Amino acid sequence: MTKYVIIGTGVAGIGAAEAVRRVDKSGTITFIGDDPHGYYSRPGLAYYLTGEANESLLFPYQPQDYKELNAHFLRGSATRIHPEKHQVELKDGKRIPYDRLLLAVGSSAVRLNVPGVNLEGVVKLDHMDDARRIMALAKRARKAVVVGGGITALELAEGLAACKLKVHLLIRTAHYWSNVLDEIESKIIERKLFEDGVIIHAESELTQILGKDGRVTGIRMASAEQLDCDLVAYGIGIQPRLTLASEAGILCERGILVDEQLRTNLADIYAAGDVAQVYDPASGRSVLDSLWSPAREQGRAAGMNMAGRTSAYLKAVPFNVTRLAGLTTTIIGAVGSGQAGEPLTIARGDSETWRDIPDAIIAQSGFEVNHLRLMVASKTIVGAIVIGDQKLSSALQTIIRDQVDITPVREQLITPDAPIADIMAQFWAQVHASRN
Ligand SMILES: Cc1cc2nc3c(=O)[nH]c(=O)nc-3n(C[C@H](O)[C@H](O)[C@H](O)COP(=O)(O)OP(=O)(O)OC[C@H]3O[C@@H](n4cnc5c(N)ncnc54)[C@H](O)[C@@H]3O)c2cc1C
Repeated sequence: MTKYVIIGTGVAGIGAAEAVRRVDKSGTITFIGDDPHGYYSRPGLAYYLTGEANESLLFPYQPQDYKELNAHFLRGSATRIHPEKHQVELKDGKRIPYDRLLLAVGSSAVRLNVPGVNLEGVVKLDHMDDARRIMALAKRARKAVVVGGGITALELAEGLAACKLKVHLLIRTAHYWSNVLDEIESKIIERKLFEDGVIIHAESELTQILGKDGRVTGIRMASAEQLDCDLVAYGIGIQPRLTLASEAGILCERGILVDEQLRTNLADIYAAGDVAQVYDPASGRSVLDSLWSPAREQGRAAGMNMAGRTSAYLKAVPFNVTRLAGLTTTIIGAVGSGQAGEPLTIARGDSETWRDIPDAIIAQSGFEVNHLRLMVASKTIVGAIVIGDQKLSSALQTIIRDQVDITPVREQLITPDAPIADIMAQFWAQVHASRN
């Protein structure tokens, strides 16, 4: 009977266990997890903060699902791996033997490194407990400063604004999320934030959190400007949790390096999800994603391989449908500016691939809330950003993923002021009809 051990009860770990069970009904599956809330939707935390989702909606599994998984859950923290003995050591010294081990330990928020960071009222958004804490603190607070320029910072700003706090957003760069969005797109988001009452401080660096009696009272910026506040929330990027792996001799760069079968360099040890830096045969590089669906797919592929069914994880074109300042936004493929900026690495709901500058011509239309940008390469579209009206987003996912030949409409698309949304809608109707 094979002993499978999975560290981490997030979507990658659960995806792996589901796959193992499909192949191996009799092996034992042991989860080691240090989050008391187990498996829940982390993207859903943003909607929990705005009050659009209550806690019960964040838990994808019902008791029947756990029963079918037939796994054993150990609450605790794994502190060491002994690869030569095939054992995982827990914080209390207990050792758990494995035949196959999966590291699905995710990533954690990059910590703010300024004086005052330990004051009561400084928060981040990694876990359910963080979200609960923010909600509790927001009840007594009036003014918040949010620090960061990616998706999580915006989710924090929107969540706190929904709790009726006056919110100031500090971003380091001249425009919001400028290594992924272009200036027009940043401005659309910034304008919407402004309408929602969020005050943006661009090119602003937090240097100190001020406090009294152990609690936050304000912040100071590099410009020496000070703001009063009773809450400081930050989302300045994430770091894969690498300590366990690197101490065990597992090769890591920005994440744990794995091959297409999600194998690390050590026998019988696999990694998946936010912690894994996955080989992408299309680009020949190993990249990080912090996205729910790739984490689940990687977990599934790892589970199949752990159970003896060779299964390659083919990295899909990364996409996310998210909400930025209340505007639904879909980001697909390579759309970036290559610029360094916030977030420091990548953030939650983000992909390294989005920063790539493709060899493509930009075609765009719509400069108000409905905006479309296409990255038009010689025969295909390699990236797209859709803000507001989402009619084309699913078609674009397919067109980009399947590398559909856009030669018939390429010249039209790159003509200045072309109605690119209409052109793509007509083109997609033809492609769709020819496929059915
Ligand atoms: C606020 C927020 C918003 C997000 N928004 C989006 C979005 O819009 N779209 C999107 O696609 N993705 C989004 N994400 C990212 C997405 O949730 C992650 O990519 C996904 O959850 C990664 O799953 P995982 O299983 O790899 O890691 P995780 O879900 O982080 O799970 C890892 C688990 O391992 C546990 N663990 C870590 N170390 C140990 C240890 N030593 N011992 C025991 N247990 C350990 C952790 O506590 C955790 O429970 C968001 C995430 C957050 C937090």
